[in-house]
Amino acid sequence: MSTKDFVEKDYYKVLGVPKDATEAEIKKAYRKLAREFHPDANKGDDKAEERFKEISEANDILGDAKRRKEYDDARALFGNGGYRPGPGGGGSFNFDLGDLFGGSQGQGQGGGAGGFGGGLGDVFGGLFNRGGAGTRTQPRRGQDVESEVTLSFTEAVDGATVPLRMSSQAPCKACSGTGDKNGTPRVCPTCVGTGQVSRGAGGGFSLTDPCADCKGRGLIAQDPCEVCKGSGRATSSRTMQVRIPAGVSDGQRIRLRGKGTPGEQGGPAGDLYVVVHVDAHPVFGRKGDNLTVTVPVTFPEAALGGEVKVPTLGGPPVTLKLPAGTPNGRTMRARGKGATRKDGTRGDLLVTIEVIVPKDLGDKAKESLESYREATAGADPRAELFKAAKGA
Ligand SMILES: [Zn+2]
Ligand SMILES: [Zn+2]
Repeated sequence: MSTKDFVEKDYYKVLGVPKDATEAEIKKAYRKLAREFHPDANKGDDKAEERFKEISEANDILGDAKRRKEYDDARALFGNGGYRPGPGGGGSFNFDLGDLFGGSQGQGQGGGAGGFGGGLGDVFGGLFNRGGAGTRTQPRRGQDVESEVTLSFTEAVDGATVPLRMSSQAPCKACSGTGDKNGTPRVCPTCVGTGQVSRGAGGGFSLTDPCADCKGRGLIAQDPCEVCKGSGRATSSRTMQVRIPAGVSDGQRIRLRGKGTPGEQGGPAGDLYVVVHVDAHPVFGRKGDNLTVTVPVTFPEAALGGEVKVPTLGGPPVTLKLPAGTPNGRTMRARGKGATRKDGTRGDLLVTIEVIVPKDLGDKAKESLESYREATAGADPRAELFKAAKGA
């Protein structure tokens, strides 16, 4: 469609109203015509459908004060379709109609071109996707769904396949989504089948809301379906197996493309978002890709050095070589014993050394410690502390 077509279209003629028709007159004319030519009332009649489209289009423009003014202005400017070359007869016509309409409020509806602002193509993309019988037959993307799952610590580290029970809205099977017992709903009189109602929002703007009477479906059941109470929608629940990748952490939100609500009229399915909760482990902790563990060692092990066995998550223990003189709280690294990363490699196990003090000592141990005390009597562990405290 070109600018010329737009300007040549006489929307007043389409609705059969005079150019100075009031808003109420336009609305009345539109409703009468829309009812008469609605596709549901003229099944298989292409001419009626075409006419209905035209009527909807005319109403979209004339029914909206701001757009009506723009239309009137454009027609006045272009003289009902007669292009006038610019001064000097250069022939190039560079008035940008996009500017003219750029200020219009967009209402990107359905699968439309995302409202206004981007030139004339957008304007018409928006127009034709608005309301009308077309809306219900257009492919519609299914909704995104969010769900939650709780994994054990090990499942989160290794990845897991978990069953997820989902309930979603689907067309009612009993009435094929029509909401009507016999499958013959009638056109909603409030929105005349468009499923939308406009309301003024001040400043010449109007907002479009789903019609409350028909819940945006454009149709009302004559004899409501008992299964869905006339809504045409049913809650269906399904259980599916969801693969949670290895290495997820508590609170993470995973997106599973196309696992949301199925689309309508051939539209793509929505996405499923799974919020993962991870149970704590009694021994291991997580720091990103790394696992953490605290390992108790004796004073002789820390002081003299030695080999210490450390448990790993789901694998055999690893042996850590403790250097002589390892202080309490030192963290050592067991490479590749952490959580699995996306690329299949693994993080590390961070081992924190905790020197433990025994509560009860046997006689022999006590004797040994007494002689150790004597042997180290000259060393004051707090000498540095006091020196530093005085110095400050
Ligand atoms: Zn309605
Ligand atoms: Zn039903």
